Amino acid sequence: MANKSNNVEAITNMEVDFAQWYTDVVKKAELIDYSSVKGCMILRPYGYAIWEIIQNYLDKIFKQTNHENVYMPIFIPESLLQKEKDHVEGFAPEVAFVTHGGNEELTERLCVRPTSETLFCEHYSNIIQSHRDLPKLYNQWCNVVRWEKTTRPFLRTTEFLWQEGHTVHATLEEAEEETLKMLNIYSDFFENYLAIPVIKGKKTEKEKFSGAQSTYTIESLMHDGKALQSATSHNLGDHFAKAFDIQYTDKNNKLQYCYQTSWGITTRSIGAIIMVHGDNNGLVLPPKIAPIQVIIIPIASHKEGVLEKAKEISEKIENFARVKLDSSNKSPGWKFSEYEMKGVPIRLEIGPKDIEKNKAVLVRRDNGEKIEISLDNLEEEIKALLQKIQENLYNNALSLLQEKTYNATTLNEFEKIIKEKSGFIKAMWCGDKNCEDKIKELTTATSRCMPFNQEKISDKCVCCGNKANHMVYWAKAY
Ligand SMILES: [Zn+2]
Repeated sequence: MANKSNNVEAITNMEVDFAQWYTDVVKKAELIDYSSVKGCMILRPYGYAIWEIIQNYLDKIFKQTNHENVYMPIFIPESLLQKEKDHVEGFAPEVAFVTHGGNEELTERLCVRPTSETLFCEHYSNIIQSHRDLPKLYNQWCNVVRWEKTTRPFLRTTEFLWQEGHTVHATLEEAEEETLKMLNIYSDFFENYLAIPVIKGKKTEKEKFSGAQSTYTIESLMHDGKALQSATSHNLGDHFAKAFDIQYTDKNNKLQYCYQTSWGITTRSIGAIIMVHGDNNGLVLPPKIAPIQVIIIPIASHKEGVLEKAKEISEKIENFARVKLDSSNKSPGWKFSEYEMKGVPIRLEIGPKDIEKNKAVLVRRDNGEKIEISLDNLEEEIKALLQKIQENLYNNALSLLQEKTYNATTLNEFEKIIKEKSGFIKAMWCGDKNCEDKIKELTTATSRCMPFNQEKISDKCVCCGNKANHMVYWAKAY
């Protein structure tokens, strides 16, 4: 029964080929399937269930913080997209256009939304007149399309699901406060819900969102030492308000431009969960995000009373956790590896001998530990164990992040770390884009962010040796 099924042997070892391991896991855990359109993925029930849990949790928080959900059209007239110059330049290479409706060529091409700032702005310029109309705090859950050249499930797909928040405020200070508030909601979500520690900070001018005044980000580190931009929050200043003429009359009856923010999180976060917590047996899901938290596997289920007992236990657990009873006639060994592959946090085994002793066996997915529990303490034991697994996964991810974070004070050191190791590099930077470009050219590493927690690694820019102004996290990134 302890033998691995074919299923598990078919996954590539993550230390041998991480990219192939990732592809194997998303397929074998039944998260996605490929479609006939390159770069577009089919989210299967198990993958979509994870997204639904993410959605439900964040939607609740957004509403608690007074945001309202809306829905904008999927198409943007080309002329509308072009109103904000930096914005259109940033997105132009990856915009898909609709040119025909039926047999007729359209008089104006329609772009399939890569993001919806322009649509929100047009709407806001129509509905905002007075300071009494502010703030406007809108969010939408939708799909967007970006014509990517190279794609990977969850991480970079031509079409993906996300939420995009778009808010309007009377002052720059209020917009800044909103931008940081949403960034904090994202970082709490990553750390406490997905069990993924993050680096919080500000993007450099080069890496900020096209059209934004400033972009804040949370960056996480994957098992292979590459960084993943996990969520972003932008203070748009009055750039879009000026381009789209979004104005309000203030208390003194004077016309003022509005200040805006936008912020988003995508199905990419599922890629982060896979690459931070997964192992050579497949997916490992933090309990809070797991569609199935406890899988019940009856042993010798043909024997009298076993299935009945398993069902009784399942009904009890249903009251406090997401549980599934697999009573199919596949062998227990097959089921063990199947639910290991799917990353279910706790396996509960129940057989005739356990029933005799009023016991069950719990097996942790995160470390394989087996625990015998009395059926009288089912609720306390399972709740406590789910909590323990959640914490353990966070602590493991934090150790990985700390182990794989290096300091560099010279370009030589920087290049050596990139060549021989992988992870975050903390290094000082003068603030000049030329140095950022040069580092990218030499090492393929990009600046991930200027963390809020600034440290002084040295006095000089790691690249040019001039006076340093910022400490920056650098890494190769997805
Ligand atoms: Zn420099």
